[in-house]
Amino acid sequence: MKVPLLSSDFLDRAETVYADRVGVIDEPTSEDSLGELTYGEVARRVRALQAGLDELGVGAGERVAVVSPNSARLLELFYAVPSSGRVLVPINFRLRTEEVEYIVEHSGASVLLVDPETNQDIPTVTAKHRFLLGKESDDALLRVDREPEPWGDASEDATATINYTSGTTARPKGVQITHRNIWVNAMTFGLHAGVSDWDVYLHTLPMFHANGWGMLYTTAGLGVPQVVLRKVDGTEILTRVGKHGVTLMCAAPAVVNAVLDAAPGWEGPVPGRDRIARVICAGAPPPSKTIERIEEELGWEFCEIYGLTETSPFLTINRRQREDGDKPIAEIARAMSRAGAPGIGVQLCISEAGEVLARSNVVLEGYWQQPDATADALEGGWFHTGDGGSIDEQGYLTISDRKKDIIITGGENVSSIEVEDCLYAAAGVAECAVIGVPDEKWGETIKAIVVRAPGAECTEADLIAHCKQRMAGYKAPTSIDFVETIPRTATGKVQKFKLREPYWSGRARQVN
Ligand code: AMP
Repeated sequence: MKVPLLSSDFLDRAETVYADRVGVIDEPTSEDSLGELTYGEVARRVRALQAGLDELGVGAGERVAVVSPNSARLLELFYAVPSSGRVLVPINFRLRTEEVEYIVEHSGASVLLVDPETNQDIPTVTAKHRFLLGKESDDALLRVDREPEPWGDASEDATATINYTSGTTARPKGVQITHRNIWVNAMTFGLHAGVSDWDVYLHTLPMFHANGWGMLYTTAGLGVPQVVLRKVDGTEILTRVGKHGVTLMCAAPAVVNAVLDAAPGWEGPVPGRDRIARVICAGAPPPSKTIERIEEELGWEFCEIYGLTETSPFLTINRRQREDGDKPIAEIARAMSRAGAPGIGVQLCISEAGEVLARSNVVLEGYWQQPDATADALEGGWFHTGDGGSIDEQGYLTISDRKKDIIITGGENVSSIEVEDCLYAAAGVAECAVIGVPDEKWGETIKAIVVRAPGAECTEADLIAHCKQRMAGYKAPTSIDFVETIPRTATGKVQKFKLREPYWSGRARQVN
């Protein structure tokens, strides 16, 4: 028998087995907070939302876009929209008006839901139907008086979400993730991370980012209570870990750094130490010193994973093994800073050019309406990650550089080409190149190298302000070097490795 692998399976099981268990604890400080909801209540609200979309005339395959920081209502959309055959487009809430507009238009979303606070930044972005998330969307969309229409031709190959990601082009690309991708990712990631119904999960990761790495499906399927965190703050994370008995969280290294910074000021034992909370990191390889500090100062277990939005995202995991026993922590931490070993069903290899290639059921269906980019990414039957790396004799992958032109700052991808495009529009810029340089807090930060036009007098502050007005703040350069010329190859290509060299010298890797 073959039964389609659908994203609805996870909340369905939560409702069957854990209906009376608290499933979601909403951010208490947000407007219209939903407080605590049992999984039974979440499932009822999700059905009511689907009935509301039916009434609005939103059919299967139509796109529903949402721009919101973490919230219970955002979480519900991950269950409600794909389960009814529609496609969810979760958008980064830090983006500027034109950036969100592009994604809404490109995805062809007919419904747009916006968090009230985010709305202040993007008041003009619109779609056929637009609602503020909260009381307004509840009143407009929750239809408790009718059952939702069943999704007639439910298929595991249908697109469930489109996640826009900054890649090698100036415009973000829409990564089509299918129900099957979600299912396999949720299962393999959950298995390797050892998730069980004893866990309590804290959403330290923005849910829009690769569907919260798919953990929001895994946790629902196992009845794990999910604590919503709206804003990253080290002390607040410690408080919630203590208050709700959190055992598991996923985070970019910058988030872990915020917790490490807050811990010395915490009175009494660090919450989570008693039950060995697990923190799963990705986005960049954290320095082994950070790993040591997590294990020693917090008493939490550190795990690293590697993946991309395009791979749902889980590909590899590095977790302490039984054999590591009593090894000194420094030795364990060094071994843990590798990206990890492939998860079940993932094949990895390194191309002749040194690029990491992957084959697995978590690899994207394609880039939305970009057949050429899709063909390039999947050339030869392997997914081309754009990352440079090596696989050691234990089968563990280490990421050493990025072939693609992206910078990862605080866990978010920034296309250097997009920043360069923006700078070229500024008065006085004749030539520019944008690179990532190491940064204590953010892992990497953005530096622009600029050649001024003859007679131009633009300053570092002018150019940074120019970018901040046009792009999400985290994409703007934090420093600018003015130079006479930019090194290029014979064919005119900027030699970024030469520009990066002085900032990364003495380091084994060119990523942080
Ligand atoms: P995103 O699609 O935004 O999730 O970004 C994916 C990119 O993050 C990958 O292509 C890598 O460049 C980087 N990345 C993710 N996990 C790791 C890791 N464990 N070590 C090094 N780089 C990572």
